[in-house]
Amino acid sequence: MADGALTSLANSAPLPLVDPYGRSIRYLRVSVTDRCDFRCVYCMAEDMTFLPKAQVLTLEELERLCGAFIQTGVRKLRLTGGEPLVRRGIMDLIRRLGRHLDTGALDELTLTTNGSQLTKYAAELHAAGVRRVNVSLDTLDPDRFQAITRRGELASVLDGIAAAKAAGLQVKINCVALRGVNDGEVHDLVAWCGRDGHDLTFIEVMPLGDMDEGGQGGSVRADQYWPLSMLRAELAKRWTLTDLPISTGGPARYARVGETGGRVGFITPMTHNFCESCNRVRLTCTGMLYMCLGQDDAADLRAVLRGAPDDDAALLAAIKEAIARKPKGHDFIIDRRRKAPAVARHMSVTGG
Ligand code: SAM
Ligand code: SF4
Repeated sequence: MADGALTSLANSAPLPLVDPYGRSIRYLRVSVTDRCDFRCVYCMAEDMTFLPKAQVLTLEELERLCGAFIQTGVRKLRLTGGEPLVRRGIMDLIRRLGRHLDTGALDELTLTTNGSQLTKYAAELHAAGVRRVNVSLDTLDPDRFQAITRRGELASVLDGIAAAKAAGLQVKINCVALRGVNDGEVHDLVAWCGRDGHDLTFIEVMPLGDMDEGGQGGSVRADQYWPLSMLRAELAKRWTLTDLPISTGGPARYARVGETGGRVGFITPMTHNFCESCNRVRLTCTGMLYMCLGQDDAADLRAVLRGAPDDDAALLAAIKEAIARKPKGHDFIIDRRRKAPAVARHMSVTGG
């Protein structure tokens, strides 16, 4: 380890890796599985084929990789998927990663979940050091929930959210905006989140995976794309929204809802370029490191990991080399004629 950032690995607070555009990489999102108990229409095909086990990193490999990133200065880890809480043994991994919170090497360990397993795991998550979770919830209507997720049950997710709250976890709700699907419900969602004390973030649907009906990807169509500028205009008919200058380090822009005191966030990858402040990279469950959600360039860390099981220096060098290739930004376009995705891989592979 000849270089300054890496020699500082021996110290308790390593210098962060900095990409070619001066952005310090502090945030790693890790997809721990491509599997899920739901089949949301915008995310997966109904008859989704999942990866063979041998291609997926073991829990030990995931722990080692996360440890390497923490050594390079990553301060925040978010586990995602697929559905992270359906991976067997996931709580062991979370507990082991939670030790980095105890040592002060990590500021936050969190996850994005569909909420279906939260009644089972909320208390254990809190005990492992998790303090906040993002739960995806696109509707409060049981039938519509079933239609969007294809196999989810709204009641179990609402119970999971209640269990998380009771365990002391802060819950943020993520809601994908879908024209003609949940556009009539946005006021109810704002009211419900305001009442229950959850931040609510709306997400523009992204053209990931094959969008054609019957393909391997989700079946969201170009006509379901609902720009958040329009969603916000709808909200403004009933709520007083005041922009907040806060940044959570992520791509969401927040506004205060005067009537509830709650916060509403807007993630607009399609219409707003937030790349200039991007401090994150994404690791898939197969060990591919994507430096940008919207670009295809990736580094195969599984090959490095399996090629040199005891050589952390090789792993750290591979991470450093990858960060040096982080692109300036992305350019998602929904092509309405071809209905082709701008990026062919699914969100369940890269991790949302
Ligand atoms: N299963 C977990 C969940 O649903 O929260 C974690 C993984 S999921 C892929 C992460 C987030 O990505 C979810 O909030 C989901 O709604 C969002 N998502 C999936 N496909 C999307 C798409 N095509 N466009 C926008 N958001 C998407
Ligand atoms: Fe599963 Fe999350 Fe994708 Fe829905 S969005 S299918 S819950 S991974």
